[in-house]
Amino acid sequence: MDISRRQFFKLAGLLGALALTPKEGQAYPGKFATLIDITKCDGCEDEPIPRCVRACREENKDRFPEPIKPIPPYWPRKTYEDWSDKRELITRLTPYNWLFIQKVEIDGQTLYIPRRCMHCDSPPCVKGCPFGALTKQPEGNTVIDHNICFGGAKCRDVCPWQIPQRQAGVGLYLKLLPKLAGGGVMYKCDLCDRRIKRGEEPACVVACRERLGENAVYKFGPREEIYKEASERVKNEGLFIYGDVQNGGTATLYLSKIPFEKIDVKLREMKAVFQMPVVVKNRYLEEINPWGKVILGAGILGVATGIVSGLITRNKKDEEV
Ligand code: SF4
Ligand code: SF4
Ligand code: SF4
Repeated sequence: MDISRRQFFKLAGLLGALALTPKEGQAYPGKFATLIDITKCDGCEDEPIPRCVRACREENKDRFPEPIKPIPPYWPRKTYEDWSDKRELITRLTPYNWLFIQKVEIDGQTLYIPRRCMHCDSPPCVKGCPFGALTKQPEGNTVIDHNICFGGAKCRDVCPWQIPQRQAGVGLYLKLLPKLAGGGVMYKCDLCDRRIKRGEEPACVVACRERLGENAVYKFGPREEIYKEASERVKNEGLFIYGDVQNGGTATLYLSKIPFEKIDVKLREMKAVFQMPVVVKNRYLEEINPWGKVILGAGILGVATGIVSGLITRNKKDEEV
């Protein structure tokens, strides 16, 4: 990917402008939500790979990262995150696996919990990304633009569930500051953005229904209907709900017969990478610090200007040779 001087100027301007733009307006509930009824999931134990996981991988395979090798080292970090040799791994989230089934044994029962991005109403990942690489869509989903992401992983740091996953050796930073900036590109479930914008359901939702019919684990639909159905089932069937208040509300609701407090205690005992904390406060709803934004914006603007100046100097030298 070759980038001209004009494109660099454009990018620098964009970065500065994005950093200085207040992002509160990007957070709102959106049109759709997903209900995930874990009382119905058997983890597709009789199949080589859970149907929903397979469907997700198939749907998104054209967007999985293809890193350059060898992957360049990043100062000051001594390590980088490379999942490209573990593409078949389905027991956790990776840049090549945006949905996994978490198995938990509680009180003699086995729970299978489909885990993916919660698509928060007020997403810290969107607000925390200094480059504006994440956006909240009108449909309610959050999407990473892989062409803008520098792989700094701020989105993962601020995500209460550590959902976005980084792959090194890919991305725009390789052209800008290969040894100093970023560390790759972040990947996660985007709620099948391309499909839902075409009026289709997410691939995992369709795949589970093809197997279980009316008894399917996932239900996708207008947010109000999904929230209403979930709250009626909580009332009528004594189920427990997760995702309605966590992090200020999300577009993903889980239903369970076992309290989520108990599930999370178990996950913590298991030292699971992906936990389900019940008390999840949204740091951006709680601490609004306008001066922090201005300082961050100025910093980003400075870095962007530095990048452009450095590159122009380098380009000039190249032209003189
Ligand atoms: S959600 Fe459906 S498709 Fe996915 S593992 Fe559970 S039963 Fe299988
Ligand atoms: S779950 Fe994490 S990655 Fe997904 S929208 Fe919320 S903060 Fe962002
Ligand atoms: S909504 Fe789409 S991207 Fe997200 S887990 Fe399901 S299939 Fe994968």
